[in-house]
Amino acid sequence: MADRAHARKATARSASTGRQTAFLPFARPTIDEETIAAVAAVLRSGWIASGPQVDAFEAALSDYLGGRAVRTFTSATGALEVALQACGIGPGDEVIVPAMTFAATANVVVRVGARPVFVDVEPATRNIDLGRAEAAVTSRTRAIMPVHFAGLPVDMDALYALAQRHGVRVIEDAAHAIGSSHRGRRIGSFGDLIAFSFHPNKNLTTIEGGALSIRESVEVKQIERLRFHGLENGSESGMDILVAGGKYNLSDVAACVGLAQLRRLEQFNRRRREFAARYFERLDTDPPLLLPARGDEGHSWHMFAPLLPLDRMRAGRVDFIRAMRERGIGVGVHYPALHLFSLYRKMGYRPGDFPNAEHIGRSTVTLPLFPAMSENDVDRVCDSCAGILGRLRN
Ligand SMILES: *Cc1c(COP(=O)(O)O)cnc(C)c1O
Repeated sequence: MADRAHARKATARSASTGRQTAFLPFARPTIDEETIAAVAAVLRSGWIASGPQVDAFEAALSDYLGGRAVRTFTSATGALEVALQACGIGPGDEVIVPAMTFAATANVVVRVGARPVFVDVEPATRNIDLGRAEAAVTSRTRAIMPVHFAGLPVDMDALYALAQRHGVRVIEDAAHAIGSSHRGRRIGSFGDLIAFSFHPNKNLTTIEGGALSIRESVEVKQIERLRFHGLENGSESGMDILVAGGKYNLSDVAACVGLAQLRRLEQFNRRRREFAARYFERLDTDPPLLLPARGDEGHSWHMFAPLLPLDRMRAGRVDFIRAMRERGIGVGVHYPALHLFSLYRKMGYRPGDFPNAEHIGRSTVTLPLFPAMSENDVDRVCDSCAGILGRLRN
């Protein structure tokens, strides 16, 4: 988000050594030569929209997720919107969403005509507080949409027990969580409807793209129709249209990138875990950053986002981010509390409604974490944080 320098490949002079170092963005996709060659082959094949590569990618994702039905989309946003439509959710319905998430999680609820009901998150995990979620259930609640924040899974046992008690659907926003697992079970290999994102910043990319893992096989055809003009499985001949479907099918060019990425996903996520562990070891600042919850081996570390100790600083987050940028390091903000944007204030949400989300939204900073960075990069980030926070201490 706040990382335009990413694109312009800025360089910065290291304060200590005077050496030029490449700008380190907070996220960067890993695209290898094999992937580039595969893209060229698909482009030359004459079939570049949805076709054999999409079929193969969906089959590979299904394999990865224990044989579940998986359908791909042009984005997670599209997948989430179709999931809501497939559940028959619309005007008069309520969907419970966390207040600490990306815009898409609640926007899709508005787009289908339902009302997003925000719930605060737990301060440590930044995942939806399931106790508060249960208290927010009404007779109009049709679904709960948790986010596995930064790749740290929500407590799945408690989540599905809650859903069962109240007879509501679960649509997991697993945009951060491809490769995450809860008690040894991969996110997306169980549960109701699970949406993944393949945006370039995510753990697996198709440039833009997403996928939906589907439990109810009777819903697959409806989801295919909602994905493509109301038609089943892309077929335009001899079929009726029963629903005004959208247009969310992935291209074969994108799918072949996804196939190559999926082959390396475990390796990518291992690197992410190693760098996160190194941050925990080496990030030592005064005043101290509040580090994110560590989770266990099931954490896919989509991002590493500590909180700034703002009450012990004589400058704000923008100053910290600017100082990091001057040292050649990109820092993101994921995310401002969602209920405080104008759209949601107009629905009646106010500052003070969700103190945990608001505190995180004010003080969170996303530090660089991606598979192709190095141990040295992590150390450089740690040293820069220590230097800058020492200088900004009040
Ligand atoms: C990235 C993201 C999305 C949207 O993903 P797209 O594929 O860009 O549509 C949704 N929810 C969360 C939490 C995300 O981080």
